[in-house]
This record gives sequence, structure tokens and C-alpha cells, in this order.
Amino acid sequence: MDHLENVVIIGSGPAGWSAGIYASRAQLSPLLFEGAITAENQAAGTLPMGQLSTTTEIENYPGFPRGQVGGYLDSALDQTRKIMLLPNEGEYLSGPELVELMRQQAINFGTNIISADIIEVDLKERPFKLTDSNGKQYWSKSIIIATGATANYLDLVSVHHFRNRGVSACAVCDGALPRFRNKPIAVIGGGDSAIEEADYLAKFGSKVYIIHRRDQLRASKVMADRAFNNDKIEILWNRVPEEVLGNEESGVTGLILKGTAGQESLTLDVSGVFMAIGHTPNTKFLNGQVELTEKGFIKRIIPFRTNTNVEGVFAAGDVADDYYKQAITAAGTGCMAALDAERFLAATDV
Ligand code: NDP
Repeated sequence: MDHLENVVIIGSGPAGWSAGIYASRAQLSPLLFEGAITAENQAAGTLPMGQLSTTTEIENYPGFPRGQVGGYLDSALDQTRKIMLLPNEGEYLSGPELVELMRQQAINFGTNIISADIIEVDLKERPFKLTDSNGKQYWSKSIIIATGATANYLDLVSVHHFRNRGVSACAVCDGALPRFRNKPIAVIGGGDSAIEEADYLAKFGSKVYIIHRRDQLRASKVMADRAFNNDKIEILWNRVPEEVLGNEESGVTGLILKGTAGQESLTLDVSGVFMAIGHTPNTKFLNGQVELTEKGFIKRIIPFRTNTNVEGVFAAGDVADDYYKQAITAAGTGCMAALDAERFLAATDV
């Protein structure tokens, strides 16, 4: 064992950085694995900095009201990192800017960062053993899992084929692209995300179809009303995609829908197909060593605490949240996990 860490944090979204800030300030010298920039991670939707880095304007994160943030970013961020951010001509902080500020804040307090993925853990005994994507091993007295969740895609050959060429799972990342402007767009799903995506896409597209497999939305009433009151949104009930149509030059050009209530197939002319069919938490690397909920999220065993069933292992953010899924709640649970880890370390002789 080269070195024994107090706490290893896995993940680089709001939960991970918030845990880093708190654990650093508690003098725990945390080691945070932010993930690696690889083609595999890009394809799987698990690039460093989490889902927040794929959003555009951040309107609802407390502390960042509308305003010009250029000067602040210039003074707060390391310039070598700032030049990687897109120029921001909007009125709000962007997702990549917010998460970059969190990263910087964690560094300022002493979080040590490794740009690799944790691909294996051994939680059978303490100290825990972790292996990263470079094959290097680490030992730690405690672990905070903050690996987030990834958007689901329908498992159709044509969906995979046209991914990033009209098929997307993130309206705020891709909705403003020229390919969708003033053209019809389809959103798949009937939950709050589907409505939110459709509402956002209606700003750009000529029309937005919400394709739902049942005859009733799962979305909350307030969100459903948003869809019902938007003239550009039409809901197609009892339908699921059968095939995405398109060609190499234009990407997506249409969508064949089959009926789930015995109706004939239907073909729509659309320039984009957005998935809003839920998320899968990133827990594969745990290899069954931490208890999960029925939906596959990490189970927290004590109400209002971040403890998992493995003593010394804590979970924060979307990997353990099938309900709120907000940057602010992820950051909040990151803070909680660091405090829980600190108290665990103070009380336990590892
Ligand atoms: P949900 O799990 O709530 O909804 C997923 C939707 O996708 C459901 O309508 C489901 O259909 C449909 N679906 C799932 N799998 C398939 C499939 N294979 N084929 C076709 N349709 C499928 O996920 P969301 O991401 O919408 O929401 C997750 C959580 O985040 C919720 O708690 C939500 O309230 C919250 N949220 C809140 C927002 C807000 O309030 N502003 C915005 C976004 C999310 P079915 O209904 O038949 O199961």
C-alpha cells in the first residue's frame, strides 16, 4: 500500500466538487477522480464534469442571477481552463462555467484531482481498494460515490446510427443547432423531462411532437399544463418509435411510429428525435458491492444521510437520486457526504 487516503471521491459533477470543497476544508486532503476524456466515455455519455456541463443557461442555481459574469470568470478561473469554455454571450452563467467554478473552488481548498476513471473497487474490507483506468491502485479509509446518471436511449439500430446527427437526449445541449430551426422535432417520453425538453425545443422548431407510449402523461400536472398550453406542442398518445429515418447527408429526416393500442404505423417528417425516457445511474464499476434500489440507484440506508449499506461508503448526487435530479440537490448531498465521511473517520479506527 503506497499511501492511504482519508477519502476518495469518484465523480466530477456538482456532488463530487461539493464533496471535494467540504472534505478539503475539513483537512481530509481528498483525492477526487474526475474521469477521463475518452471516446468510450463520450459514446457512453460519461465524460468528466457531469450532466451539468451539457446544459446551456443556468437560471435556477441560487447565487447566479441574470447578469454579466465575464469579469468574475476571468478573475476566478485558471486561464488555461477558461480558454476551454465557449464564449458566453448569454445573460446567464452556462453549465460548463458553473461546474468549472466548482472545480476551481475545490482546487483552491486543496482537493487533489486525478483525470482517470475508477474502474474497479474492492469494498469487502477496509481500507478499501480502488483501481483506476490507468491500472493504478489506491487505498482509502472512506469513499464518496458521485458518479451521476446517464440519459437512456431507445435500443434501436437506427437510434444508435443517427446519434448526434439528429438523435439526442439533451435539448438544452443541442436544441439550438441549425438542423432543428423551424423544422418539426419529436420528443420521446411522457415524464417531466419530456415536457421540459419539448417546451425548450418549441423555441426553435416549427412544431414539437411528444410521443408517449400510454394515454396518460407521467409528468406532474403543472408540467403537463405547460405542454397542453403550448400551441406548438402536439402529444401523440399510445405510440412508440419503430425506426428513425434519415440519410448520411442530412442526418434525421423522419420517424416511423407504431401504435401501442392497435393503431396503424405512422410516419412523421422530423429533423430531430430527442430521448426523454429516464436515466441510468452509473454504478457498473461497483460490481454489485453496494446495495441498489429497485430502480438501480444507490440505496441510502439512513433517512437524510448519505450512508450506503457499506460502512465508510457514501453516495451523493444523481447516482442515488431518482427524484430531484437537480444540480443544487446534487451539490447539497455532496456536502452531506463529505460531512458524513468526516464524522465516520473521526469515530472509526480504519
Ligand atoms: P420519468 O421516469 O419520470 O419518465 C420517463 C418517461 O419515459 C415515462 O413517461 C415513461 O413512460 C417513458 N419511457 C420509459 N422507457 C420508455 C421506453 N422504452 N419507450 C417509451 N417510453 C419510455 O423520467 P424523467 O426524466 O421525465 O423525470 C425523472 C425525475 O426528474 C422525475 O422525478 C421528474 O419529476 C424530475 N424532473 C422534474 C422536472 C421539473 O419539475 N422541472 C424536469 C425534469 C425532471 P411511462 O410513463 O409509460 O412509464
